[in-house]
Amino acid sequence: MLASLDSPGDSSYVGSPFLFPFFCFLNSLGTTDWAKEDCSEMDENTPSDEFDWDSNDENEIQKSPSASCLNSSITGRKEGTIPGEANSSAGNGPSNSKLIRHFVGMGFSENLVAKAIKENGEENTETILEAQILEALLTYVALEKSPPEGGQSVYSDMHSSDSDGDSNIRRTEIDGDFLDDLSDVDELSDVSGCLGDEENMDHLSDKERKLLHLVDMGYYIEEASAAIDRCGPDSSIMELTDFISAAQMARASDAQMGELPRLPPDDQPGPSHIQIDPRNKKRRSFDDERWEKKRQRGYEKKVLDEDEDTVRLPNPMVGFGVPGEPAVMIHRTLPEGATGSPYFYYENVALAPKGVWRTISRFLYDIEPEFVDSQHLCAAARKRGYVHNLPIQNRHPILPLQPRTIHEALPLTKKWWPSWDRRTKLNCLQTVTASAKLTERIRRALEGCEGIPPLKVQKDILDECRKWNLVWVGRNKVAPLEPDEIEMLLGFPKNHTRGGGISRTDRLKALGNSFQVDTVAYHLSVLKDIFPRGINLLSLFSGIGGAEVALHRLGIPLKNVVSVEISETSRNILRSWWEQTNQTGKLIDFPDVQQLNGDRLEQLISSFGGFDLVVGGSPCNNLSGSNRVSRDGLEGRHSSLFYDYFRILDLVKSIMGKN
Ligand code: SAH
Repeated sequence: MLASLDSPGDSSYVGSPFLFPFFCFLNSLGTTDWAKEDCSEMDENTPSDEFDWDSNDENEIQKSPSASCLNSSITGRKEGTIPGEANSSAGNGPSNSKLIRHFVGMGFSENLVAKAIKENGEENTETILEAQILEALLTYVALEKSPPEGGQSVYSDMHSSDSDGDSNIRRTEIDGDFLDDLSDVDELSDVSGCLGDEENMDHLSDKERKLLHLVDMGYYIEEASAAIDRCGPDSSIMELTDFISAAQMARASDAQMGELPRLPPDDQPGPSHIQIDPRNKKRRSFDDERWEKKRQRGYEKKVLDEDEDTVRLPNPMVGFGVPGEPAVMIHRTLPEGATGSPYFYYENVALAPKGVWRTISRFLYDIEPEFVDSQHLCAAARKRGYVHNLPIQNRHPILPLQPRTIHEALPLTKKWWPSWDRRTKLNCLQTVTASAKLTERIRRALEGCEGIPPLKVQKDILDECRKWNLVWVGRNKVAPLEPDEIEMLLGFPKNHTRGGGISRTDRLKALGNSFQVDTVAYHLSVLKDIFPRGINLLSLFSGIGGAEVALHRLGIPLKNVVSVEISETSRNILRSWWEQTNQTGKLIDFPDVQQLNGDRLEQLISSFGGFDLVVGGSPCNNLSGSNRVSRDGLEGRHSSLFYDYFRILDLVKSIMGKN
């Protein structure tokens, strides 16, 4: 797509006539060129499976003259200078008309530009920046504040000139790849709790600020507004963007599949990949039949409940309650069929595409998910949904409580933290890390500023800091978190993932996927009184053992642990932890959940009398907002392993019930 848009100014430009001003306009939306220049470069070993975008497109953009619409205005350049117009004036005069021409050339109406110039520096012409004017213009547009004499808003002007007349074309469809490719990372930053506090936008209401932010990110004002209405005024930007993309996905898939939900084809991953054991045809056909019925039932319900597919995420995301806060709910009645042995606990990302949590919930005996953001238990956000049949009274946290703010968790950063960075929480800890080039660029940008950097520079740096969880480690110096710090934030023991042949990249990946131990422990804490002598645990998708560590830290003895984890590195980490913590129980591990069939489960169950708890957080690769390439929902290659969680749990229930 970008090939045709690589240079709107050049003769090869083949986009629709309205794209040129629009392109320029979008390029100037504050995307930080110093920061973006090469930031798509991930850690050299970034797991391509999860983050895979075409960075060549980015290079093309950088070559494009339009990409520098605002280049110099955000490179730490001193306020008051405009490229080639060091002495420019916004007052009457030739440079003023030049500015007007410049913005009119982007597609804004002359009236609007005049208004922005007037409001932003007529009195003090030396301090006019393109960026300031542009932001003002953008604000008018976003808030539909264009002056009456301006007639239509710039926004609608732009659309009305769409020769195709396709009013449904979204900005991100037109230029979505372009914006996506300019962003460094997967995720639109999990900015909940920190949005907007750095910007001098006090005059705007919260809703207006969010609208502006979303428009600034490239969304249509209509869809941004609808998302705020739907998700509620307190929703975070992450939740809103997720809502918007889920809506887009749903529209796209509706268009693709008609009204009916698609059953996974036999040769696709998903329920149909149940392992067939040639030794036991009877069991196999029983399992398959039972499974097929259940699957069908799940889908039938899905058809019936199509309208109720959207699970509303609570705000604040505290589930049934978090330590230190009054409980939101102290009693719940579980649906019939959800109770009984064993207890189970399933986890996945809260911000999954539309319908995913409904489906998960339907399969897991109609239990409503409990959504919790771990920022209520530690200093980093981690929004997760948990479907479980555990009691919810008398939960208790593991002690000591985790530090809840960045400065408490990472006290050495405090000294260097600039006053204009008002973050108190880190964003979700990811599997990837920022490049050295980005931190270098930030340092250079700051060194180019005298004193407190201009708002625009602050904003751009803060965007990067949020996106990449950068912390201040020196004067003008930000750095990504070290794996040791991430381990600590997630509640793992020091050096849990260190050594034994594991690379830094693998550490980050394993940690990025793991449970936040304090959160999970808080939920599992109720088991302590129920099983004072310890538990038998079936741990599916164990990773680095978030559940095992949580139970151990709660003081719940681990009698028999059957751990199923495909990554040998993670299995080694868990085993090494097992040995170091002098566990007296037995750890049995298997690589692949897909291989865990009824026979094997029956053997295990008969050898130690059944499982007390079945834990698992299946892969979120195709669910998380960070995946812009294959966010295929629950039928995606990795995420369909959820069905194995259900299959195995259901088998365990039935075998234990029979016994
Ligand atoms: N809860 C875990 C992490 C879960 S992430 C923790 O606390 O660390 C999902 C995990 O599923 C990853 O570790 C991934 O390696 C594992 N996985 C992926 N496919 C699998 C499969 N077929 N069988 C077993 N584990 C698998």
